[in-house]
Amino acid sequence: MPRKPTLSPSKITTYLACPDKYKWTYVDDRGKWYLRSKSYYSFGSTLHGVLQRFHDSGEKGVTTTLEAVAALEESWIDAGYTSQEEMMQAMAEGKAIVESYIETFRAQPVTAETIYIEKTLRRDLGPFVLLGRVDRVDQHKDGTIEIVDYKSGRQTVAAEDVATDLAMNCYALLLQEKHPDANLSASIFALRSNTKATFPFVPKDLDSFKNDLVVLGEEILHRDFAGMVPVAKELCPHCDFLPLCKKHPDFVSSD
Ligand code: SF4
Repeated sequence: MPRKPTLSPSKITTYLACPDKYKWTYVDDRGKWYLRSKSYYSFGSTLHGVLQRFHDSGEKGVTTTLEAVAALEESWIDAGYTSQEEMMQAMAEGKAIVESYIETFRAQPVTAETIYIEKTLRRDLGPFVLLGRVDRVDQHKDGTIEIVDYKSGRQTVAAEDVATDLAMNCYALLLQEKHPDANLSASIFALRSNTKATFPFVPKDLDSFKNDLVVLGEEILHRDFAGMVPVAKELCPHCDFLPLCKKHPDFVSSD
């Protein structure tokens, strides 16, 4: 039996931003020659790795701000920076962020147990399997399961942002299957300001999200990407795939 197709929050978000971008990223191999490294992805991956080691008490775990700064230096990803100066500035910001995060975390009372760190979860939704990698999941003393997502580029965050974030809704669906009787909440942690916003999900809203997601997933999986005419949009001037889209005779560039 053929394996079911998979969709993830990144795939779905890419499709919603631009179906052509989805095609070049996930369907048509020619896209890979145009993809460029982005410093903000490198920065986010480095920070995620350090915070993973802080919350994971395993062999490579870090427990102090000094160890965290050392871990950041040793695991620093330098792809995508345009100059040494830009990279050094980002590294200084990264160090300040992990120091502040760890100091704040350690100053708070422990009210929850971390049950997953950087874990890939899956849920069969019928036409496809939903995959998602959660940064961290905590279980509180009252049984509430809290999904925690780190955003390395954000300064501010509100509960409304969590409620409307596609990835957070996907993560809640994934956790719902594993912990069907638990109350579920999700938090986005804005690392640059060391602030967090939380939203409690309710089963009725998650059911409705699941139905919408299945309809959207079927649209993605049945789309005729080969015959699609790229449609110019605001994203185009900053998109790696613009040279590819411009090759299409019916593409009307906005520049
Ligand atoms: S150049 Fe524009 S139309 Fe083409 S993939 Fe990028 S955003 Fe989409």
